[in-house]
Amino acid sequence: MENYQELTQKQKSFFRTGETKHTQYRIDTLNKLKDLMTTHEQDILDALKADLNKPEGETKRAEIGLVVAEINYMVENLVNWSTPEEVDTPSTHEGATSFITPEPYGSALVIAPWNYPVQLALLPLAGAVAAGNTAVLKPSELTPNTSNLLANMINDNFSREYLCVVEGEVETSTALLKEDFDYIFFTGSTGVGRIVAEAAAKNLTPTTLELGGKSPAIVHEDADLNEAAKRIAGGKFANAGQTCVAPDYVLAHSRIKDSLIAKIKEAITNTYGENVSASDYNHVVSERHFDRLYNFLDNGDMAVGGRSDRSQLFIEPTVLDNVSFEDPVMQDEIFGPILPVLTYEETSQAIDTVANRPKPLALYLFSDDQEVQDDVLNNISFGGGAINDTINHMTTHYLPFGGVGDSGMGAYHGKASFDTFTHFKSILKRSNK
Ligand code: NAD
Repeated sequence: MENYQELTQKQKSFFRTGETKHTQYRIDTLNKLKDLMTTHEQDILDALKADLNKPEGETKRAEIGLVVAEINYMVENLVNWSTPEEVDTPSTHEGATSFITPEPYGSALVIAPWNYPVQLALLPLAGAVAAGNTAVLKPSELTPNTSNLLANMINDNFSREYLCVVEGEVETSTALLKEDFDYIFFTGSTGVGRIVAEAAAKNLTPTTLELGGKSPAIVHEDADLNEAAKRIAGGKFANAGQTCVAPDYVLAHSRIKDSLIAKIKEAITNTYGENVSASDYNHVVSERHFDRLYNFLDNGDMAVGGRSDRSQLFIEPTVLDNVSFEDPVMQDEIFGPILPVLTYEETSQAIDTVANRPKPLALYLFSDDQEVQDDVLNNISFGGGAINDTINHMTTHYLPFGGVGDSGMGAYHGKASFDTFTHFKSILKRSNK
């Protein structure tokens, strides 16, 4: 195993040279990262096909396209974001001026998951670079082809003291977490998030935790059921449900539940055809995850789908009806193509149901009723979400993206990424007159 203490020290020394703080240096690095996305496009498509059977279109959109768009936005705005901001000074401090100067933390550690293994590694890395940090990236071992490709892309094109990829499993993460990084950015499960937070506490390292949870889609009785069904199915079954912000379950008003399930079935057929085959649809990432998901298939009543093939790590888009909160499928984040549908009668009941459980990463509400929208938004705490849509709040760099409570702390994307990896240093400058 590499000596990570030496690696961190080298990065800290390089950071101390001040090189990474130059705005042009950051812009050049961001552009180089962007160019790598183009020159390695085919390699990225191949790696994701091999690791997750990810369809090309989805890789182009959700892995490559999002990273390129984010970098373009950062490059456009970096000078503005990096400029110290002059602020007011109270009259009690006569003769003084005040300003806030953004400075990078130093050396950042980024630990990434496997479900969008390029996007969720490179978006935080771009944030670290934009803010002027050095960085070590540890991709997930569960997507080995992508991990290896990222290592080649970064390690062949940047000096190790500036940006580097360290590949490995839990022991590697554990060893890296012992080092005294200046910032830790972790994306993954809530359980491992706690381990990361504990390790970070030892060095009092500021940390962003991008975690998961059970994100509900509440479908009210006034909802446009055709659109709701399409958008729920789209957000749930993309990447075979292995999306942190995928609707985990549906809470449907009891009056429209049956029609909604019928329309979700229609939406699945329209997207994947009558026979979803293992060839054109994402794999479940591993046998362990397949077995975990397979055990949920007998919860409640099978309303749609349910076929599976362990040899192909394939589970077709599945909807479960008559599920209760006591069923195993409702205990933890599902993170697979299985959608339980539960019901409510009154809005207040739906609100209590969600608000009494750990704060979800996302929440989706399908209703045009302003009162219902206000009630839900004002009475449930969750990371972020959408009204009459799913997952797309995370694909705009104008909205900070992150969780709250069990679903995480801190946020990133766009300006929020720059802010996350930046310490804002406040200075009062007094005159000697
Ligand atoms: P995970 O927590 O198992 O692993 C994430 C990373 O942590 C990997 O690089 C892994 O090697 C490392 N790791 C695993 N165990 C560790 C340990 N004991 N100590 C230190 N490091 C360890 O998560 P995953 O299975 O890769 O991803 C799925 C989870 O991530 C889901 O819960 C999902 O909701 C969440 N997620 C959240 C976001 C978000 O942006 N909020 C995005 C994607 C995924």
